[in-house]
Amino acid sequence: MSQHLLTICYLIGSVTFILGLKMLSNPASARKGNLVAAGGMTIAILGTIFLYSYQEDNTTHYLGNHIWIFVALVIGSVVGTLAAKKVKMTAMPEMVSLFNGMGGACAALISIVEFNHFSKEATHDASSSKALIILLGLVIGSVSFAGSMIAWGKLNGKIKDLSFKGQNILNLLVLALALGCTASLIMNPYQGMMLYVILSLSIVYGIFFVMPIGGADMPVVISLLNSFTGVAAACGGFLYDNKVMLTGGILVGAAGTLLTILMCKAMNRSLKNVLIGSFGGNAKVASGGSSAQGHHKEISMSDAAVVMSYANKVMIVPGYGLAVAQAQHTCHELEKILVEKGVEVKYAIHPVAGRMPGHMNVLLAEADVSYDLLLEMEQANDEFSTTDVVLILGANDVVNPAAKSDPSSPIYGMPILDVELAKNVIVNKRSMKPGYAGIENDLFYRPKTSMLFGDAKKVLQDLCAEIKSH
Ligand code: NDP
Repeated sequence: MSQHLLTICYLIGSVTFILGLKMLSNPASARKGNLVAAGGMTIAILGTIFLYSYQEDNTTHYLGNHIWIFVALVIGSVVGTLAAKKVKMTAMPEMVSLFNGMGGACAALISIVEFNHFSKEATHDASSSKALIILLGLVIGSVSFAGSMIAWGKLNGKIKDLSFKGQNILNLLVLALALGCTASLIMNPYQGMMLYVILSLSIVYGIFFVMPIGGADMPVVISLLNSFTGVAAACGGFLYDNKVMLTGGILVGAAGTLLTILMCKAMNRSLKNVLIGSFGGNAKVASGGSSAQGHHKEISMSDAAVVMSYANKVMIVPGYGLAVAQAQHTCHELEKILVEKGVEVKYAIHPVAGRMPGHMNVLLAEADVSYDLLLEMEQANDEFSTTDVVLILGANDVVNPAAKSDPSSPIYGMPILDVELAKNVIVNKRSMKPGYAGIENDLFYRPKTSMLFGDAKKVLQDLCAEIKSH
């Protein structure tokens, strides 16, 4: 009976994961989708704790250790809740990397424990497929853990890009060695220390794999690591014959892979190029991509207000700086004031603007900006030529023309928002400092561009006041 109930719990879990994922694809239903999937996960976890049983010596055993399990669950829930409540929106990608790394570590730890059981019990021919699944979980989980930790350090600025000549070859050698040791351990599961050699090699590979990737390529790597964790969790599902773990792992693995492909498309790069090209990493230091020079011109608050009030169409380009300033509500306020004055206002959303996939959509949805006003990059690029004013709010790399014109630039080839097609471009940021990729932006020195310096929130508040007074 309890097995049937458990199957129903797992079915509910699997269905809610799929529904939740579907709901995540629209900002209006995303929050609910997250809760639906979390509810399903809770049912699956409680079902496992109370209903899971196995047969040994003709008796049915249930999971014991309830105190240990619940103490761990409570600690994890408290830490997770506090971290999620405290985290700033701009630090979300770091938290996602950290949590993703924990998932990878968890899969690797499961593999260590299970391999130790396995090597004690295994009859050789019964189980090479089981050994394969366990060791795959170990390799993929530890690569994901180590890589995510490096990505976390890079995103919060504590770790710098590092690449050296021959690094790709060294990486491949380390990976080949890890896989060779895995094959050897599958053939002879009684070499106890080999497990830890594989663990160490996988961790070294994870570190080397992410170290050289930097600048604009981080979004791709983060979603790739995410898919690794999914696959490692799916290995756990296979191992325990646990359907919900398998479904969850496959969904994360598939969603991460799809996102990786979409990100690569958005950056106009092949995955191979991202992984071995060191794009946006050290290349930028050596490149001529940071050579923009000349004089920039500034615009006063009142002039900016006049230009925008009398425009027919204004396109707002949000970027990372808007998120830093938490200016999304004031931005929506400006949009409403302009619309009242008869100006058509739209938003141009670059797929890698901000610091996580979909960052700008989430940010603007938080401020109740209508989803219909958000244009994807291709649509926006079609509309810039009929736009009177482009207002860039804390964006930099995603409007850098070097991506189109300077083959030596580390972001060369990345599609950008063609803001220059508009009649006027107003750029709000606090200084002339570069953005995430660390390169100068020639757009700021072009004749159509005027700089409006200051924190995005303060500037938007002043702009709203100024436009209202006209
Ligand atoms: P950028 O990081 O290129 O530029 C942001 C700009 O905002 C900076 O130049 C900064 O200039 C300005 N800024 C910072 N704080 C404020 C503030 N309070 N008020 C006003 N301006 C501010 O951002 P983009 O969105 O253009 O590009 C995103 C970059 O991040 C891309 O290179 C992308 O590849 C990368 N990335 C994206 C991820 C994703 O998934 N979306 C993940 C990881 C990286 P100043 O200091 O002068 O104010």
